[in-house]
Amino acid sequence: MNLVLMGLPGAGKGTQAEKIVEKYQIPHISTGDMFRQAIKDETKLGLEAKTYMDKGELVPDEVTVGIVRERLSKADCEKGFLLDGFPRTVPQAESLEQILDSLGKKLDYVINIDVEQSVLMERLTGRRICKSCGSTYHLVFNPPKQAGICDKCGGELYQRADDNADTVQNRLEVNTRQMQPLLDFYAEKGYLKNINGLQEIAKVFEDIEQLFAK
Ligand code: AMP
Repeated sequence: MNLVLMGLPGAGKGTQAEKIVEKYQIPHISTGDMFRQAIKDETKLGLEAKTYMDKGELVPDEVTVGIVRERLSKADCEKGFLLDGFPRTVPQAESLEQILDSLGKKLDYVINIDVEQSVLMERLTGRRICKSCGSTYHLVFNPPKQAGICDKCGGELYQRADDNADTVQNRLEVNTRQMQPLLDFYAEKGYLKNINGLQEIAKVFEDIEQLFAK
């Protein structure tokens, strides 16, 4: 299954992505995670991405499209993939079509996890992530059993640098402005499926499973 997962930051993409890749055994390709890893590894890519990410801006397309092309060409994408955080713009979506064409693949679904912008501010500033395994939690909506500690691996939880209130506001504005044309692009192609992201985490996933079962 070749999937794109969409939604504004905090809509629950990361949480649903974990569930999808576990159940359907496909690689989770998150451009945000790839950039964060590059920053941690202090690579050239990381240094470049960091200047944009710290401001809540998008990393330029030539950089982002390049890493996605390289990743989708790997053998583990033969059985499918889940793209998370890419594409973010119509030019990126067009580049993705070209990449997939050249690999003899096509998308099956573009899933949009739909949540109003007003709900997202609270969700994002309360988000905490495990340093070791990347699992996501929320201080109020999905707290770990023990404060500051990951339920799954015992790792330390941290707040992403770009989850502070000022950067979140900017990210939501940038993302909202850029997402609508992308939704229109995929709706027109018949790939778009909207899922109600205001529901409980398990129910959101159930709706996704039902969609795939069709
Ligand atoms: P995310 O983890 O998806 O929220 O991404 C965090 C940050 O990484 C974004 O605010 C951007 O700076 C950068 N980023 C992630 N994916 C993309 C993309 N597809 N295009 C441009 N920048 C991206």
